[in-house]
Amino acid sequence: MEQQHIIDRFISYIKVDTQSDPESETTPSTEKQWDLVNQLVEELKQIGLEDVTVDDNAYIMATLPSNVEHDVPTIGFVSHFDTSPDFSGTNVNPQIIENYDGGDIVLNKEENIILSPNYFEDLLLYKGQTLITTDGKTLLGADDKAGITEIVSAMEYLIKHPEIKHGKIRIGFTPDEEIGRGAHKFDVEKFSADWAYTMDGSQIGELEYENFNAAGAKLIFKGKSVHPGYAKGKMINSLLLANKFIAKLPKKEVPEKTTGYEGFFHVHTVSGSIEETEVQLIIRDHSMKKFKKRKKLVEKLAKKINKKYAKKFGEDIVVCEINDQYFNMREKVEPVKYIVDVAEEAMKDLGITPIIKAIRGGTDGSQLSYMGLPCPNIFAGGHNFHGKYEYVPAESIVKATEVIVKIAELTAQKAAEGSLK
Ligand SMILES: [Zn+2]
Repeated sequence: MEQQHIIDRFISYIKVDTQSDPESETTPSTEKQWDLVNQLVEELKQIGLEDVTVDDNAYIMATLPSNVEHDVPTIGFVSHFDTSPDFSGTNVNPQIIENYDGGDIVLNKEENIILSPNYFEDLLLYKGQTLITTDGKTLLGADDKAGITEIVSAMEYLIKHPEIKHGKIRIGFTPDEEIGRGAHKFDVEKFSADWAYTMDGSQIGELEYENFNAAGAKLIFKGKSVHPGYAKGKMINSLLLANKFIAKLPKKEVPEKTTGYEGFFHVHTVSGSIEETEVQLIIRDHSMKKFKKRKKLVEKLAKKINKKYAKKFGEDIVVCEINDQYFNMREKVEPVKYIVDVAEEAMKDLGITPIIKAIRGGTDGSQLSYMGLPCPNIFAGGHNFHGKYEYVPAESIVKATEVIVKIAELTAQKAAEGSLK
């Protein structure tokens, strides 16, 4: 594969500002995402893909037809073209560091912004490689334009190399993943693949099919404001009630003290005054059983406070609302575990050590899996997403492209052997 060609493609994508906006209610959330959508649609047609479509919500789909006679399941590859609202994506000005020597990289001299392996040890994995970094003023957008680059480049490669046998492949590019809506309007029926992979992981080798079960809770504590000089036995301070509730949550089960499969409660917003205080938290756990227990605990604590104040306040003094956000895709992927095995085998064939671990978050793939499209996540190659220290080794983008090609090839082979199970 031609690295320079792939880098050029990647740069043509990151130059287009596609930042999404959580405040917007439209899809795509920002008009400017269309700029890249239009560019991609043209490119997909130009490299020779079929059924290139884009719907009113900017979801792009396209097909690479099968080039074999026998039946092969249709596989899909998915990534998102928006970038995070956390950091600017305007005027991305990438720097290419060839043959990285393992030292500090000056991103911005005037502002003394340094990308250093003393802090970001991962850099040392890529000594001797070609790194693509920011100029310290924007994010890079490797999340997830690296994924888009890999999918387009793999399709182009397969078209140019008809000797590589594969079944039908569907590709899908989505807006608004960074604001949690990438899968919301994804037309799984229209996509009509048997399974898919999101190319949206980080370090080379990552392969993920487990993620958190997730819920958000909002509690509104009420109070009674009375002149503080005459408040004895009358005032109820909702701030202190909220504080009591927070203090009852398990102190060690917070994001900053948990890792691996350990779940948590994360209080992220508290705002209010005497009369009313709102507390918002998120609840996360890989285990469904523990996840349910966590939600129960929040409800139980709220109930206790209500019981205590029933007489004095007359009505429920705290109202608790819990909403599920997404679920662990493992439940949907495990029954078709061979879709993970194929990806793992593809990596090993290419000399990549698979890193299989549970995601401490969610992916579009977890939502898609529950919409009927089982969808593990594969590395796209970038590091330090959503900020100025974001970087991606060109070699990782090329490797991920090769993984896509290999998965297509292996799937067709295994289908012929009848060993896809
Ligand atoms: Zn992403």
